[in-house]
Amino acid sequence: MADVIETLRAALGDGAVLTDSDIGPRHRSDMSMTGKHLPKALLRPRNTDEVAVALKICNDFGQSVVPQGGLTGLAGGANAQADDVALSLDLLNGIEELDVEAATLTVLAGTPLEKAQNAAAEQGFLLPLDLGSRGSAQVGGNLATNAGGNRVIRYGMARAQVLGLEAVLADGTILSSLNKMLKNNAGFDLKQLFIGSEGTLGIITRVVFRLKPLPRSTSTAFCAVADFDAVLSLLRRAETDLGGPSAFEVMWPDFYRFVSGHKMTGSQPLPLDHPIYVLIEHQGSDAANDPVRFQAFLEAALEDGALIDAVIAQNEKEAQNFWRVREGYALDTLPEIVNFDVSLGVGRIGDFAEDCRARLIARWRGGQFFFYGHIGDSNLHITTSVPYAAGEGMHDVDEIVYACVRDFSGSVSAEHGIGTLKRDYLSYSRTPAEIAVMRRLKAALDPKGILNPGKVV
Ligand code: ZN
Repeated sequence: MADVIETLRAALGDGAVLTDSDIGPRHRSDMSMTGKHLPKALLRPRNTDEVAVALKICNDFGQSVVPQGGLTGLAGGANAQADDVALSLDLLNGIEELDVEAATLTVLAGTPLEKAQNAAAEQGFLLPLDLGSRGSAQVGGNLATNAGGNRVIRYGMARAQVLGLEAVLADGTILSSLNKMLKNNAGFDLKQLFIGSEGTLGIITRVVFRLKPLPRSTSTAFCAVADFDAVLSLLRRAETDLGGPSAFEVMWPDFYRFVSGHKMTGSQPLPLDHPIYVLIEHQGSDAANDPVRFQAFLEAALEDGALIDAVIAQNEKEAQNFWRVREGYALDTLPEIVNFDVSLGVGRIGDFAEDCRARLIARWRGGQFFFYGHIGDSNLHITTSVPYAAGEGMHDVDEIVYACVRDFSGSVSAEHGIGTLKRDYLSYSRTPAEIAVMRRLKAALDPKGILNPGKVV
């Protein structure tokens, strides 16, 4: 009797089923760099029907399947074990339709996010989903992980920007929900099951995005404030006076000092001695008046003490320099770094940062701890660089940070997902009843448990 690999080859053709040295090394791991194995085979289906054929065969054989997109995830969600088959969406790459009247963009799941953004921009539309890895991240993976990014405060997470999608279930059933209507309450909203479930309930093959008009103005400022309470009042003022910022990013001073002083960053927008820094961006539709209103907003805030210092980007280059500080790539040069992505009630983030830092320093006096993030979206990132003693490791620092998150009733994952790296901590943010329902959904849609086993739940 033929085995699963032979059966896949017979159905899909040799070129679509790679094994051994034909599998490129990048299929070992996502960007968390925690993957250790190449899969036993790499499937490269060319369309939805081939994804369905591949999954039906794998399901019949009880063969586990790990979907892989651009491999830019940070939670190990796309990493395969040696006995898994990986299914790459690379060849499902293309723009299918831009519907100008409906303001929707239909794309195949393996399309890089930036390519989809550009297709929208060519027709005067904004695809608001945006994140640092836009050049290689694929839209299917963005949705499977419900990606966040820089403009969530204005447009919501990936979930909020999708009107329809097509997914293939474990048994090969094609579930087509390519809805373009903003309103559709005809029964359960099935697409939401596949968004954020990290390939454990089905493999996304097509997406219908909801587009917005391209903004005509972008104003960006780098600001300093006295404390976290001042951050919160500045955020409220930006909501009322500006009609909402398109980004509101906060950096604690350790982060700012390290990153802005590093040669990888190349600019230092404000002096080093301020208590806390904020990057505010506003995008609008009035190219003539928006910058004037933005400047007036900052001046008023400076006058009444809400801000202690601010500099406005005079051109796109300067705005990019501000963003390069916030992106903080210089942190990657530190030894033994661990990155965290957590969520907390916006009002508690200041206290959380203080408490979490104190707990980390109590354990590792010589450690470096950097706090920053999309504070307007309740999302805090933490990067730790710790001189571990023998026998200590990443798990120890996880334990301290996630226990603190639990004590503040936060979420162990804001935008990166659970994958394998946070699975042990899911119960810190979800009740037993919630996790039980997740497991029942998994059992109902994937009774043999072949899809991305060991991830999320
Ligand atoms: Zn982020």
